[in-house]
Amino acid sequence: MLKLIVATRNRGKLAEIRSILADLPYSILEMGEVEFYNEVEETGDTFLENSLIKAKTIARLTGYFTIADDSGLEVAFLGGKPGVHSARYAGPQSTDEENYEKLLRELTGVPREKRRAAFRCVMVLAAPSGRWVASVGSCHGEIASQPRGNYGFGYDPVFFVPDFNRTMAEIPPEEKNRISHRARALAKMKTLIDDFIKEER
Ligand code: IMP
Repeated sequence: MLKLIVATRNRGKLAEIRSILADLPYSILEMGEVEFYNEVEETGDTFLENSLIKAKTIARLTGYFTIADDSGLEVAFLGGKPGVHSARYAGPQSTDEENYEKLLRELTGVPREKRRAAFRCVMVLAAPSGRWVASVGSCHGEIASQPRGNYGFGYDPVFFVPDFNRTMAEIPPEEKNRISHRARALAKMKTLIDDFIKEER
């Protein structure tokens, strides 16, 4: 079976990608399974640049098709911040809580209609030859005025999803995995994989 590498060290993401692609005829491997232990630095200014850097570098160095993703939160009132800096918004070693507390401070006094936000995910599949294809997924919501809920990670406690009338951290993982930016990008990627790989071989 053709091997696809997933460029993440996050167990949750790997499991999610494996389950969504389970019915495709590929074996989905993590980087350690092909003895790739290097860190690839995310030096890009956009989600696409970062996922391209990861997918293309690992595909070139391992010789296998590689899937990588990059994601984050964009708040319109803040001109799209935290964006690619989501993971370290409050500083290099910042915790999830410090990051969302910084965001809440920046939105103090901003009325509900101006607190629109979106989680974005850009997913790239790269071939060892350097060819690639990308898909994008978004999940829309608003930044709440205070954190609520214990599920999830990152900005989930302050990301209010109007359709569910709950924050993302109050939505159980099975439900989140149906509506998330990552699930949506991956569902689109799933429709592109076969053709992309056939054209390459
Ligand atoms: P990465 O794509 O794993 O590098 O994610 C970058 C950062 O974006 C994370 O550290 C989180 O702060 C934020 N983020 C990405 N996806 C989510 C999500 O589903 N919920 C909450 N925060 C997220």
